[in-house]
Amino acid sequence: MVKIHNFGAGPAKMPEEVYNILRDELTNFEGTGISLLETSHRTAPYMNLNTEVQNVVRRLLNVPENYKILFLAGGGQGQFAAVPLNLISRTGTADYVVTGDWSAKAAKEAKKYGKVNLVLPPTEKYVDIPDQSKWKLDPNASYVHICTNETIHGVEFDFIPDTKGVPLVADMSSNFMSKKVDVSKFGVIYGGAQKNIGTSGVALVIVREDLLNHALPICPSIFDWTITYKADSILNTPPMYAIYIMGRVLQWIERQGGLDKMSELAEKKSKLVYDTIDQSNGFYYAPVAKKVRSRMNIPFRIGSPAGNDALEKEFLKGAEALGLIQLKGHRSVGGIRASTYNAVTLEEVQYLVKYMKEFHEKHAK
Ligand SMILES: *Cc1c(COP(=O)(O)O)cnc(C)c1O
Repeated sequence: MVKIHNFGAGPAKMPEEVYNILRDELTNFEGTGISLLETSHRTAPYMNLNTEVQNVVRRLLNVPENYKILFLAGGGQGQFAAVPLNLISRTGTADYVVTGDWSAKAAKEAKKYGKVNLVLPPTEKYVDIPDQSKWKLDPNASYVHICTNETIHGVEFDFIPDTKGVPLVADMSSNFMSKKVDVSKFGVIYGGAQKNIGTSGVALVIVREDLLNHALPICPSIFDWTITYKADSILNTPPMYAIYIMGRVLQWIERQGGLDKMSELAEKKSKLVYDTIDQSNGFYYAPVAKKVRSRMNIPFRIGSPAGNDALEKEFLKGAEALGLIQLKGHRSVGGIRASTYNAVTLEEVQYLVKYMKEFHEKHAK
């Protein structure tokens, strides 16, 4: 069988080395003689793991003392509800900066719990992030929500907005742990793990302590950050295996050289693909404005800005034959999407780019 190179957007490629560790530990977790899968969440081995994973998050992102690190079930979208449930009571209204389908979904969910102000004029073409001088922020908002990397459209923030003291809440599901982040600029950072830091089902939430204790009375206990914090993220049976995997992935990141190394690699890998697109005389077309092009998800079309279905199909078929898989764009935008998360190696991206160049040459005339 041909060697597989997975460019999927999520659940996404995991590091080889982590698979070896998971395999070794599967039936005997930390010398207990049993698998973590059959370990009680109220035992020392799990409670130690729970602390260990929080600690590696704190080290990697340099999380200040006054921020709590929580693990919640329900993935990224669970937090689309949890964010308003925990924060919107402060003023009853929240600002949403919609730069793609994910932040649009977050805004829609928040409307169930309060008033939502859309900071940007509505658009269906998510290819840029308007300058902050054009944003209509509400000074009375409970918080301002952004998605730092729109996984479907490939739009990534290249700046941290200044929200004039209103807490900034960021969905980092698809660029979590891909670069250093000044956590103190945010009120809350959250994300599902299955893109860049593990597997699905768990959300990592980092919340500034003064933002606790504001949950709406209807907030389910398992979505309540304050109750979760008081229970040290062991309120009910947590998604233990997903938290464990996240820990092993984060420890792997640390061994690789931390977030500086991940960031350097992300720059290099994405530049290889974007350069190939930009130097193709319009054969490949990347719709997103250069300044906010994502280093994690690279959507592009072939043949014309609107794409050429037949060529794109042929591209995907040829790619699969070489083991380059999950390159199909999201069904809502079509075309091709290459995701270059932490676990995707530079060599794999070089291999993809080689194929892109050959495919272009073959169809140049
Ligand atoms: C994938 C994704 C989500 C949804 O995550 P789930 O765990 O499937 O709920 C939310 N936001 C962003 C930016 C994502 O990429």
